[in-house]
Amino acid sequence: MGSPRFKPGVAPSPGWDSHPPSTAVVGGAATLTVPGAGGSTLSQAPDYPAALRNIAQACSDQLAACRAETAVDWAHLSPAALMEPGQRTGQYRLGTDELLLDAHGDSTISTEDLAVALLDEAERPTHHQMSSPPRTDLRPGWLSVTSGHYPIRHAGLVRACTADRRPVVWICQSCAVEHAQAVEVCAICADERQYVPATGQQWTTLDELAASGHQTRVRELEPNLFGLTVEPQVGIGQQAHLVRTPAGNLLWDPTGYLDEPAVRRVRELGEVAAIVASHPHMFGVQVEWSQALGGVPVLVAEPDLQWILRPDPVIRSWAGTLEVVPGLTLVQVGGHYPGSAVAHWAAGAGGNGVLLGGDTIQSNPDRTTVTFMRSYPNRIPLSAAVVDRITRAVQVFTFDRLYDNFGHTIDTDARAAVRRSADRYIAWVRGDFDHLT
Ligand SMILES: [Zn+2]
Ligand SMILES: [Zn+2]
Repeated sequence: MGSPRFKPGVAPSPGWDSHPPSTAVVGGAATLTVPGAGGSTLSQAPDYPAALRNIAQACSDQLAACRAETAVDWAHLSPAALMEPGQRTGQYRLGTDELLLDAHGDSTISTEDLAVALLDEAERPTHHQMSSPPRTDLRPGWLSVTSGHYPIRHAGLVRACTADRRPVVWICQSCAVEHAQAVEVCAICADERQYVPATGQQWTTLDELAASGHQTRVRELEPNLFGLTVEPQVGIGQQAHLVRTPAGNLLWDPTGYLDEPAVRRVRELGEVAAIVASHPHMFGVQVEWSQALGGVPVLVAEPDLQWILRPDPVIRSWAGTLEVVPGLTLVQVGGHYPGSAVAHWAAGAGGNGVLLGGDTIQSNPDRTTVTFMRSYPNRIPLSAAVVDRITRAVQVFTFDRLYDNFGHTIDTDARAAVRRSADRYIAWVRGDFDHLT
């Protein structure tokens, strides 16, 4: 093929008995015409998600390159609109250039069945562009593959962008931060503070997580403070916190998944005034939470705006110190990220004060000390000066209890525990204890 803009989806198999060179290309559904839409393609639909337009354009370019090709015997395979891991039924329907829909109006195929269709075509080529000299046993054109047999457990792409008019939200499986686009690698995971797993970048969606049995649990941790977790764990697996105050609630470190029962429970607990993550690792599906709660502002610390991977008008920046509602104060102390923040809740712990530390200040397993790191998984420390700065910034508040973002708590005397832990940390990095090493 002459175009450098794409790679063929598969190499010719040894069993592909046509004169060389021969290739099969897996394209996209975007170039298929929509039944009853007067010849317009899926990507030309007015409600086609903007987030997918670049991909659709690449698919269109790819098909155009195939059509312009005369020296290579090619087959272009357009899969269903929604293609995802599922069951291998070995059954699929073939069409030509029109999107195939099932009885529910869905166009979907499992990746397993797509592979079957691709190999069937490789072993018994029947949809090849004629090359020179023409092969009379081959039909020109391309094939479209979909399956009406694969059980549809959740709304697919077509339904998501036509009925609900919602773009698909991609969730990084490693950090569970929502993305507008399924890019090659999640920037948050590729950063030195996190990691891309050995198995490579993987994407999921809310629908897929729902279909695989994920549930959000909401538990009361103390009066007017609730912990939200997702089971089984999604991404980093934080515990989000919902703080209730008479003037409005705060959703802190939002989870990377949500479901209807969790949204209903959060709504029952009162109006959410703001959604705030302590830092980008904890963004979760913050915009999705906002939309589910009616467009609640999502506050992102100004130095960390560059890490927003699903931009949305609900996102607003803040810096320094911000009293979200009376008695609930955000402080950008930095450290782990330049915008890393903590939240102080004056009425917490029976009026003695609570600090939500995120992993700006993380509670240790001994439940009496905390620590401070640039990276927890990759074990990159912070300097003595930064740890002292963070500690001084939170010492202006009164707090007896500290909750970090993984369900670890310093139950009492937390303010002193933070100072004591910081002093120990500083002494170690200064070398005071080198004789013990
Ligand atoms: Zn990630
Ligand atoms: Zn983190």
